[in-house]
Amino acid sequence: MKTELILQSLEAKHPGEHEYLQAVKEVLHSIEDVYNEHPEFEKAGIIERIVEPDRIFTFKIPWVDDNGKVQVNIGYRVQFNNAIGPYKGGTRFHASVTLSSLKFLGFEQTFKNALTTLPMGGGKGGSDFSIRGKSNAEVMRFCQAYIMELWRHIGPDTDVPAGDIGVGSREIGYMYGMFKKLARENTGTFTGKGLDYGGSLIRPEATGFGGIYFVVNMLKEKGLDIKGKTVAVSGFGNVAWGAALKASQLGAKVVTISGPDGYIYDPNGISGEKINYMLDLRATGDDIVAPYAEKYGVEFFPGKRPWQQKVDIALPCAIQNELDDKDAQLLINNGVTCIAEISNMGCTAEAVDLMVEKGILFAPGKAVNAGGVATSGLEMSQNAMHLSWTEEEVDAKLHQIMNDIHQQCVIYGKQPNGYINYVKGANVAGFMKVAQAMMAQGVV
Ligand code: GLU
Repeated sequence: MKTELILQSLEAKHPGEHEYLQAVKEVLHSIEDVYNEHPEFEKAGIIERIVEPDRIFTFKIPWVDDNGKVQVNIGYRVQFNNAIGPYKGGTRFHASVTLSSLKFLGFEQTFKNALTTLPMGGGKGGSDFSIRGKSNAEVMRFCQAYIMELWRHIGPDTDVPAGDIGVGSREIGYMYGMFKKLARENTGTFTGKGLDYGGSLIRPEATGFGGIYFVVNMLKEKGLDIKGKTVAVSGFGNVAWGAALKASQLGAKVVTISGPDGYIYDPNGISGEKINYMLDLRATGDDIVAPYAEKYGVEFFPGKRPWQQKVDIALPCAIQNELDDKDAQLLINNGVTCIAEISNMGCTAEAVDLMVEKGILFAPGKAVNAGGVATSGLEMSQNAMHLSWTEEEVDAKLHQIMNDIHQQCVIYGKQPNGYINYVKGANVAGFMKVAQAMMAQGVV
């Protein structure tokens, strides 16, 4: 009841911030029972405090394009919650970026980071700048202009940005270079850095690898194996690449990838050199997957989503709300075994409700994709110690973290009928950790 009232007042305060309100609503519904069991949380205003970001920086980013014309974008950094550790989270450069989307991402990040068991708070930043069609020099000037404003507010023990959609190793390099020049320090304030200047092995693969390790755990819980399963993946960026690579290494067959232009269906499976080709596709900056169909002689479905294919496992790996209730119903009708979000909030609220109601094996992004930020946490540890771990060491730690997150979801999400509600499990486990840390630190 109480959570419903808080939600109503939030809707009144932030009208139109749909993604943010969607993310908050899901968490508040999940935690209602445990919240009611802890009257001390109510007295301390834990929910009222946890749903609002600590602070938001909004700023103008003027930069000069290759024709000498001045362009202006908006930049943001949402420092959401630092009860557990320094603010930590990615940077998204995409035309769809608004304050609402970054607030939803920062909110999700707070609970996701708590689930990793590492000491990281939640934050997120970005801009409505799109790298599509921009020259390398334009991307560099934009990244530098973004940091010229943001550098004062970030640092290795304050706020540690990383990549997200539209921000890969190239953009991190340009941002880190400018940060280092202005801050006059080389303390690893960003993660996702290049290997030559403080980055961690396995960080590029981590979100996808971790997602597959989580899916393997979900299947194992049901006595199933990923080997021989067909997999639909959406997107074709860093996350989709890592997921396709690990899934194919473990003997699954990835049959789709997608872009804003549509999806391709490769019945022979995307493996080996075809996975490397995903990186070439991404590097063109055109943001289309159609050339894959041409190169490998497979079918391209313009303007469609991959969820119409009959597969055992569906993995949204692109952007929020990319799988709706109609897509979920289609997958269910086609006998899907498991749906796991590797993108943040990849499914709409209606799709999530439908899957949980039907008892489908489903897990949310804040648990499934936490391997990315967890490995960022491992990069921070290596930077703080001034040393680097081997690929095997990082991968083993990532694997252990994903197993632990899965275990937390089972503990908090198992229903009396045996169904594991991963949404509830992830939200309750994440919330309890952040709430207890906030209680211990007083009203700040
Ligand atoms: N953007 C990624 C996420 O959504 C990674 C964040 C990070 O490494 O800090 O979790």
